[in-house]
Amino acid sequence: MSGVYEDTKFIMKKYGITANKKLGQNFLIDDKVIDTIVEASEITKEDIVIEIGPGLGTLTQKLLKMAGKVVAIELDDRMIHILKERFFLEKHFEILNDDVLKVDLKELIVKKKVETGLKKVKIVANLPYYITTPIIMKLLEEKLEIESMTVMIQKEVADRLTEIPGGKKSGAITYTVYYYAIAKEIQTVPNHSFLPEPEVASEVIKLDLRKEPAIKLKDEKKFFHFIKIAFMQRRKTLLNAISNSNLDISKEKMEKVLEELGIDSKIRGEALTIEQFASIVEKI
Ligand code: SAM
Repeated sequence: MSGVYEDTKFIMKKYGITANKKLGQNFLIDDKVIDTIVEASEITKEDIVIEIGPGLGTLTQKLLKMAGKVVAIELDDRMIHILKERFFLEKHFEILNDDVLKVDLKELIVKKKVETGLKKVKIVANLPYYITTPIIMKLLEEKLEIESMTVMIQKEVADRLTEIPGGKKSGAITYTVYYYAIAKEIQTVPNHSFLPEPEVASEVIKLDLRKEPAIKLKDEKKFFHFIKIAFMQRRKTLLNAISNSNLDISKEKMEKVLEELGIDSKIRGEALTIEQFASIVEKI
């Protein structure tokens, strides 16, 4: 294997590290995959990069070469010690020992922009798979001032995030991603590119944040709540899923709305476009 494989083995041995499965620790050991992530992220010296879960610093090392500033957020104390030693000469490196889901990213971004004078922020990460969805949802829903997210995630989730709303693999999250971003698949990654190997297949994807949401909504909260309910019972038709939910919308009312919009009453949630969902919610 490659240079990073040797580096990873060396660092793990030097510090007596074994991967903590509970923290989703699957370290990248494939130079080509790291290059792919860095290239896809299109980082320049004008950018602040926020890396989630730097681990032993394999990806971080490359990010530091390309970016004007790298702020890494890592939960595992053992990694903090390694990263501080490994990158102590890098003046544009900063590490936060915290749970990314608890960090006030909005405040962090404003602060780093002021401190560095840099204007663009990009997220890059080989994410811990046990919390992929909450992390992506947080990054989108908090309406952060970021340009893009280039992330390695499990293939199954990647398929849903990059699907077009109404496509076969749509889930509730497909609509959220589409609303805020333009998603694209970068590359599927084999399990042997990690140490230890994950139990599921992986893929690098990139989300370019839209300047304006994909559609105009009167009430975002209501819209996304409706979609969530529609996808809770995937096998049911939209009509049954909604009228059997706690939304207090009768079957007759739902039938009438669908008819008025010219939508088949037997349709399932995942077959609807984002615009169709928006018109239904508006009519209700
Ligand atoms: N970036 C490294 C690489 O590519 O080799 C490690 C990636 S590993 C898949 C995920 C990393 O996320 C681990 O280092 C893990 O400790 C860290 N992590 C797990 N949960 C976290 C959380 N809630 N907040 C921040 N980091 C977390």
